[in-house]
Amino acid sequence: MLYGAFLAILMAAPGVAVESDGVRPVADAQYGAFHLGFRSEPPKRRYEVTAPIGKGAARGLPKIYGPADARLPLVVIDAGHGGHDPGAINALSGKREKDVTLAIARAIRDDLVDTGRVRVALTREGDSFLVLQDRYGIARRMKADLFLSIHADAAENQEARGGTVYTLSEVASDREAQRLAARENKADILNGVNLGGQDRDVSSILIDLTQRETMNVSASFARLLIREAKPNMMLREKSHKFASFIVLKAPDTPSVLFETGYISNAEDSAFLSSRDGQRKVARAVTSAVQAHFARRLARD
Ligand code: ZN
Repeated sequence: MLYGAFLAILMAAPGVAVESDGVRPVADAQYGAFHLGFRSEPPKRRYEVTAPIGKGAARGLPKIYGPADARLPLVVIDAGHGGHDPGAINALSGKREKDVTLAIARAIRDDLVDTGRVRVALTREGDSFLVLQDRYGIARRMKADLFLSIHADAAENQEARGGTVYTLSEVASDREAQRLAARENKADILNGVNLGGQDRDVSSILIDLTQRETMNVSASFARLLIREAKPNMMLREKSHKFASFIVLKAPDTPSVLFETGYISNAEDSAFLSSRDGQRKVARAVTSAVQAHFARRLARD
């Protein structure tokens, strides 16, 4: 363990740029082609140092908030992006997706904990970077009952606004959903994660019945979330969509990705950055989570 850390420090010596897990050049322009016009900073290269000890195995699991009762359902909230990956950026206000998603994730955590009926964990507590596999990997290792990934959308058309709930499907519901999934999935490609192999593994699991059941539960939670979100916030007309998001690929954890609105839109961006807006999103999620587990309890 110490040796791994030492190695990482050694490799981080000035002037040494090693293409490996320890020190890797990080291109900041991963969204350049797609988020054209939403970036406030020019693309730049820099080096990130990590201590890859046991490929995540040695990394501790996040803290669990709420009652210390293992019988209560566990919800893992994933704040999208983070660290060197800012996500989408509003060109005028400079608001970054990674900050908005973290603030919303914290608001959801607080609201859920207040109910006293669920336990909650966050995949990231601060401004740190996680590869997509680690995000759902944390949920799986913690045996989460529900995984919710929080994002904010961006579009060339600055009028575009409203939230969308995504669940996993190998067949995207439309081209826009497909493009969005490709964009969100990009976070990993730039970090040297071999998506090809990982993806094939998961694809073979996809035909599994467990996955099928998980996808059904995810879709039913998505419908609840839309029902509860409607009175609290702006949603798009077609508010439930399907696409192949890597972060949703845990075969046994019901998962949804919530694009809470458009960071490229002035009103949405202001709403999602405000305490009031964050509380409204949290309220919607909490109501949906409570209805979801009440329903599952009644069925079992
Ligand atoms: Zn995102």
